[in-house]
Amino acid sequence: MRKMERMITDFPLIGDMAKEQEVLWMNPHLGDSATGIRSSGLTAEDVKVASDRLKRFAPFFLEVFPETKANGGLIESPLTEIPSMKQMLIDEASINLRGTLFIKQDNALPVSGSIKARGGFHEVLKHAEVLAMKHDLIQEQRDYRQFSQQPFTELFASHKIAVGSTGNLGLSIGILSAALGFEVTVHMSADAKIWKKELLRSKGVTVIEYEDDYSKAVEEGRREAERDPMCHFVDDENSRDLFLGYAVAGERIAAQFAEQGTVINETHPLFVYLPCGVGGGPGGVAFGLKLAFGDAVHCYFAEPVSAPCMLLGMMTGLQDKISVQEIGLDNKTAADGLAVGRPSGFVGNVMKPLLEGIYTVKDRTLFGLLRLLADTESIQAEPSALAGMMGAIHTISSGVKLADSISARHLVWSTGGGMVPEDVMKEYYQEGGNVELFPGKSTKNVE
Ligand SMILES: *Cc1c(COP(=O)(O)O)cnc(C)c1O
Repeated sequence: MRKMERMITDFPLIGDMAKEQEVLWMNPHLGDSATGIRSSGLTAEDVKVASDRLKRFAPFFLEVFPETKANGGLIESPLTEIPSMKQMLIDEASINLRGTLFIKQDNALPVSGSIKARGGFHEVLKHAEVLAMKHDLIQEQRDYRQFSQQPFTELFASHKIAVGSTGNLGLSIGILSAALGFEVTVHMSADAKIWKKELLRSKGVTVIEYEDDYSKAVEEGRREAERDPMCHFVDDENSRDLFLGYAVAGERIAAQFAEQGTVINETHPLFVYLPCGVGGGPGGVAFGLKLAFGDAVHCYFAEPVSAPCMLLGMMTGLQDKISVQEIGLDNKTAADGLAVGRPSGFVGNVMKPLLEGIYTVKDRTLFGLLRLLADTESIQAEPSALAGMMGAIHTISSGVKLADSISARHLVWSTGGGMVPEDVMKEYYQEGGNVELFPGKSTKNVE
């Protein structure tokens, strides 16, 4: 208890966080992006290598997952304006949102329906490529459709891949690894949904369930993999290859904005709101965005009020040396993928000079927004994917420079939902009907 009092004295926000209040933290260590990128230990070249790898595998995806055809075998999602949702937010929350509201629909990413397809697929593909080269099966310029055939599948059948997950990373790693022929084990935390476990088992993936949370599932998976030299462990807490796969999103979205004729620069800034679990997904994407847009992009993470692990780690500077349980939070949330009590220290350090801020969201807010988005734009996303939707409200109401400008671009990263069964999605939607999203606010709007 003494420790808690001391922490609250040093970081008063912890008092509100411990009470599960929705808070906004602005990062005092934010610097210019060029310096931040230099100090990260990662480079534009690293991201380009990842991007080129994904291009090499495009013919493989075209062959094995025909749903990737629209994008020529690249795993990519639509970037669209959501004007009706914008109007709804203006009406409901009475904010001065004059800029453009965009959504990046990673809920519609092909094959696995969440942002995890970006990082997770990249890591699996790199592992497969390295193995194939080691066994002299392929040179870089060869046709990668061969990866779906003998002798590749035979080689992969003697190798294992393991991962710890709250659900979506397991889906991404499991589906692709199984398609390549690997023997896959997914270590699932207690909060993982039954339908995700069943879907994986139907693809021949071994699912091991734990009573405990995400950190425990990762720890057990890591331990088991360490004992087996034939097993590659996808380390969600520390993986550069996951991070770089996510980062490729930067150049992709820059191309999408350019194609639409949307300019991003210092006077037309881009505000991006990314749901954060352990940090790799939002961190990697934010890194890629900084490479693409420099100081013209401002990145915010969003976390559940019961699991603000990255906020706690970055604010205290303790990074992965502190968990949300230490401030009395239970890490229980309906937001799959965000139920993480301890953040990635690797990501926290990379983001220290690059991240604008972090805010927290209540579960009920997520359900309310999920329903609004379905009603206004017919976009179906899972609860965690809505965490970014509160971002513009935070930046505008706290007076962030240019956030209320007509030239501001606000981008909500919708991170998942594409694989949610219809009946589960219906339940989410109904849950959102019980929520008064902005109590008292809408009446203030009547002048
Ligand atoms: C995993 C996940 C995130 C966050 O990614 P991290 O790398 O864990 O921070 C956000 N949204 C969804 C839907 C996810 O599955």
